[in-house]
Amino acid sequence: MLSDRIKKLKAYKTEKSKAKVRLSSNELPYDLPTELKEKISEEIKKVPLNRYPDPSCGELKEVLADFFGVKPDNLVLGNGSDELIYYLSIAVGDLEGAVYIPVPTFPMYEISADILGRPKVLVELDEGFDIDLENSLRALEENGVILSYYAYPNNPTGNLFSREKIREIRKKGVFTVVDEAYYHYSKESFLKEALEREDTVVLRTLSKIGLAGLRVGVLIAKEEIAREIDKMRIPFNITYPSQVIARVVLTEGREFIESAIRSVVEERERLIAEMERFEEVEVFPSRANFILFRTPFEAKKLHSELLKRGVLVRDMSYLPRLDRCLRVSVGKREENDLFLEALEESLHFLTMSEKST
Ligand SMILES: *Cc1c(COP(=O)(O)O)cnc(C)c1O
Repeated sequence: MLSDRIKKLKAYKTEKSKAKVRLSSNELPYDLPTELKEKISEEIKKVPLNRYPDPSCGELKEVLADFFGVKPDNLVLGNGSDELIYYLSIAVGDLEGAVYIPVPTFPMYEISADILGRPKVLVELDEGFDIDLENSLRALEENGVILSYYAYPNNPTGNLFSREKIREIRKKGVFTVVDEAYYHYSKESFLKEALEREDTVVLRTLSKIGLAGLRVGVLIAKEEIAREIDKMRIPFNITYPSQVIARVVLTEGREFIESAIRSVVEERERLIAEMERFEEVEVFPSRANFILFRTPFEAKKLHSELLKRGVLVRDMSYLPRLDRCLRVSVGKREENDLFLEALEESLHFLTMSEKST
């Protein structure tokens, strides 16, 4: 009795392999400091788990609004931004209206459209992983696109799309979702436009700045838009513990978060410079907390050689334009050193084994 729409879905893929050094999910490599964890335990002890949490997340919204420099009424909270992507795919226009997605990108935009049976217009990025405007505008007009998703910076390519191109597409009457999951590493944003316009919203998340385990995503929009989308929200979608923990960390842990972000950005620059020293490695520029790279070897083989040496990265070669590409998340200094060592050994091993065949 299940719909073909659902049977045809491909499940969201994550890396489950066990490894000493996990650089596969773009998480923050640093856990919270002990004092902050103790403060969290104290607060959690007080939570009446037999009770439903605040359905409107009032206190957390105050804190988040302050953190993002907006008003609580500009926010809709989701169980991760993944949930907000679902809401947007349901909310914007008729379900017959197509969704424009420049690819390769984050898979949830496609998955949410597929679940609803919404037509998708997938346009490949250009050589520099920027939006191919000419092809996009043509595809847009042919297919009646009303909703668009941009990961900004893009995952897994790491770059920022040209702002002007996003605006050109929006001019065709396309609702624009700018997913700024990596905002803290790029500091580039469409926030101002989202607060002024009815056709643009921004997504942020706590997942890439140290709280992936909480599942807290944030949609930022003009009050009128936020209010409408908030009506769709599943009641109590942010659990009681998540509301409490996020509030504590974003009030008492801000310095930790800021300094962790600075360390990751420094390590990103160091890692890029070190990786560029390998002759076989093509490193793509990154404004996020991960780095995409290509080698002459089959990505699956390199992935498994790295894993044998205790380092887990993500194979991205199944995506369009990403032949022989892998993505490594920026870890702690020691982890990045272990990755570089494993990479050097793996490249050497693969070079040798190709010569001998
Ligand atoms: C990781 C990621 C997300 C996921 O965010 P959650 O808040 O953990 O659901 C969203 N968008 C992009 C582009 C991502 O890379």
